[in-house]
Amino acid sequence: MKTSEKEQTDEHEHKELSKDEDKEEKQRSNNDEKQPGPSSLLTPEETETQTEQMQEYGHDFVIFDEFVKEASCQTDIFLKMKIKQEGEPVSVLKEKTIIKTSEKGQTDEHEHKELPEDEVKEEKQRSNSDEEQPGPSSLLTPGEEEETEEKMKQQREGHDQSKTVFKVTCGAVAGTLHKSRFASGVYGKSIRTETSWMSPVEFVKEALGQTDASWKKDIKWEGKPLSVLIEKNILRIHSVLCPCRMCKLDEELLEDQKNDDECCVCKRDDGSDLVVCNHCPRSFHQTCHLPHVEDKILGDDKPWMCTFCIFRTTQQWRYSEELETRAVMSQQISRHMLECQYLLLYLYSVDEEQTFASDPNLYVKNYSSVIQTPMWFDKIADKLQKKEYQTVGEFVSDVQLIFTNCATYNRGNAEFLTSGSRLKELFDGELKTVFNISEQTVD
Ligand SMILES: [Zn+2]
Ligand SMILES: [Zn+2]
Ligand SMILES: [Zn+2]
Repeated sequence: MKTSEKEQTDEHEHKELSKDEDKEEKQRSNNDEKQPGPSSLLTPEETETQTEQMQEYGHDFVIFDEFVKEASCQTDIFLKMKIKQEGEPVSVLKEKTIIKTSEKGQTDEHEHKELPEDEVKEEKQRSNSDEEQPGPSSLLTPGEEEETEEKMKQQREGHDQSKTVFKVTCGAVAGTLHKSRFASGVYGKSIRTETSWMSPVEFVKEALGQTDASWKKDIKWEGKPLSVLIEKNILRIHSVLCPCRMCKLDEELLEDQKNDDECCVCKRDDGSDLVVCNHCPRSFHQTCHLPHVEDKILGDDKPWMCTFCIFRTTQQWRYSEELETRAVMSQQISRHMLECQYLLLYLYSVDEEQTFASDPNLYVKNYSSVIQTPMWFDKIADKLQKKEYQTVGEFVSDVQLIFTNCATYNRGNAEFLTSGSRLKELFDGELKTVFNISEQTVD
C-alpha cells in the first residue's frame, strides 16, 4: 500500500540539494562515469560508446525474473487503490504570494499568474536570476562588456543548474521534465504531459510513434536537444547499478511514479497521504478532493477515479441541448453536484499560486475595511461539501464574488486587475462548456 519510507527520504534529499551539495552530487556522478567499462580490451572510444549505451539501455540488463515482475505489475495497475506517502516540506515556490503590498511584488505576481500553469515555476526562477543580472550599459569598454557577457552567461548557466523543471517537447507533444524524477531514458517517469507521467523513452514513443528514435536528440528543451542538459551535468544519467528509488524495479515504486508528488488542489506535498487517481496523473489529499474521499473507499481494492476523470468521461452525453444561462442558474444543485465540484476543482488547479484559495483577511491587511463580503475557494468548497447551496446559481455567484472582490480591492492596479480577470475568464469559459450554455445568452 505504501512506498518504502526510506526510499522516499532518499528521493527528497535529492530534491532539496543546496548548491554546494549539488556540486558534490555532480562529482559523484562524474565518478560514476569513471567506473571501468565492461571490458578492458576495448579502445577508449569503444569503451566510451559502450558505457554510453549501457547508461542508456543499462536498465534493460535486468535479470529475467525482475523483468517479468515489471511486466506483470502493469496488469495490476487498475486493481489497486493506492495511497502515496509523502515526506516533503511545502515548496518555497508555492508559498502564498497573494496581493503583495509592495508595487514590485504585485508586478511579479501578475506576471506569474498570466503564464500557463507549468511555466510558472520556471518563470519564477528565471525572473529571480534576471534580477541579479547587470543591465546592459553602453558606458562599458569592449573589454568590460565581454566580461559582463561572460558573467551573464555564467549566471544563466548557474540558473539552469538550479532549475528543477524543464519545459520539453518532442514533435508536437509538450511536457515538463522534472529533474528529481530523472534517472535515464528508460528509468524514472520524469516527464509529465497533460495525461500521464512517462520516461523519456516512453515520451518519444508517444510523440513520434517510433521505437528507434533517440530520446537525447529528439526531446528538445528550448529548441536544443536534451543531450545539452546531460553534457552540462544538469541532468545526470544514473549508473547501471544505481540503488535509487527511480532505478528500482519495485512494483509499488513504479506504480507511485504514475501520479503527481503533490496535491492537485493545495499544491502541497506536506508529508500526509495522497490519494492517487488510477486514470490520470493527479493526486489529492483526502479532504482536498471534492467530494472528500471517504476512509472506507481508501481501504478498498477497487480502482479510484477523480472528479476530473468522472466528469470528463461522462461529459459527452450529459447535455445534448444548448441551455440558457438563466435556466442553468435556477437548477437544483443536488442534480448538478458533479459539475460544480468539477468547476471548483478546476479553479483550484489553474490558480497555481493559490491566490484565491484561503481567506484574504488572514494575509491582507485591512482587507475587511474595503471588502464587505470576502469569499474564497476553501469556503465555497466547504459550503458545497456541507450542501449549503440550493441552486447552481448560488454556487456560481459565490465564485463570481471572488472575482468582483478582487476587482474592487485592486481598483487602482490595472496590472493586478488583469490577473484576477484571467481566472474569471477561464471560469466563465469552463462554465459554458460544462453546462453547454449557448454563446449568446451569457451576460
Ligand atoms: Zn538511480
Ligand atoms: Zn491538498
Ligand atoms: Zn483522474
